[in-house]
Amino acid sequence: MHRVPTALSAAALTLTLAACGQSSNGVGDDGGKDAKGGLIGIAMPTKSSERWINDGDNMAKQFRAKGYKTDLQYGDNVVENQVAQIENMITKGAKLLVVGAIDGSSLTDVLQKAADANIKVISYDRLIRGTENVDYYATFDNFKVGVLQGTYIAEKLSLRDSKRPFSIELFAGSPDDNNATFFFKGAMSVLKPYIDDKKLVVRSKQTGFSQVATLRWDGGVAQSRMDNLLSKAYTSNRVDAVLSPYDGISIGILSSLKGVGYGDAGKPLPVVTGQDAELASVKSIIAGEQTQTVYKDTRELARVAVQMGDAVLTGGKPEVNDTEQYDNGNKIVPSYLLDPVSVDKDNYREVLIDSGQYTDGQLK
Ligand code: BGC
Repeated sequence: MHRVPTALSAAALTLTLAACGQSSNGVGDDGGKDAKGGLIGIAMPTKSSERWINDGDNMAKQFRAKGYKTDLQYGDNVVENQVAQIENMITKGAKLLVVGAIDGSSLTDVLQKAADANIKVISYDRLIRGTENVDYYATFDNFKVGVLQGTYIAEKLSLRDSKRPFSIELFAGSPDDNNATFFFKGAMSVLKPYIDDKKLVVRSKQTGFSQVATLRWDGGVAQSRMDNLLSKAYTSNRVDAVLSPYDGISIGILSSLKGVGYGDAGKPLPVVTGQDAELASVKSIIAGEQTQTVYKDTRELARVAVQMGDAVLTGGKPEVNDTEQYDNGNKIVPSYLLDPVSVDKDNYREVLIDSGQYTDGQLK
């Protein structure tokens, strides 16, 4: 169980860091050359989603508590920014890189430079593809995330026993993120048999990954696509469910639905899934709009990545629990998979409040 630091221990940590001459955002001012345990470069994809902000902060805090210096950077969803940030970390003498890739296949050259400088690399949450120069992978069971979303839809619509067909539209994540295909395959492993049986009908006929993918997980892009689908395929029918892979996409989809009257009397909102249990989406679930999300405890993910990194740097052996699923095209990357949890109105208190993820007050 994750321990939430007390105000006192947080204050003590700040004092300790100040005594080490470390800035509060964790970026060492001497490039980490004489840092105890060395400099860790943490390259995260974007601040546009809460989860990555928490991931970065949690890792930086935990690495610093172990005596390392950290350089935490966000790439603003622009591949070139992320490559430049990683190059800069290499120049500063980082000993280890932890990378949540924007585009999993765009880091081959920069990671060759890292390997030439003997820097170890941990792939964080998203698999880095097309290179041998990635040592370990810390993530969640990504296939299961999709299974949870698909199963939720199947159960909510009672598809197994239902006589009437339901209509559904499908959304997937960013095509340059390996996770997006895992989520989609997981969801389709549950939904496709119902589509084949015609218990679920995709009225737009868009069922292929590339047709339903959403570049950079952009909620605005998803909203436009949903506007299109509703105006073309749902003039005389209602949509009963929308497979959404991520909360930011779900919010775009819900705006589109509400824009044409879903959620008003006589026109209920469809079942809409999600992922990450972001604050806005949990509030939306409580308000009866979004139906479900998948919670991934990123405090735990940070803990796994920090343990992996620390072990790699101190000659230990990182703990892994999967050495089969994550082939990045050059090697199977040894991975540690954490367990995702489905959340809806019925269990959000138990999963999100009792675990200390959110306080009651935050969800009001
Ligand atoms: C992560 C998800 C997240 C998505 C969009 C994926 O790689 O695994 O948790 O919802 O990116 O940020």
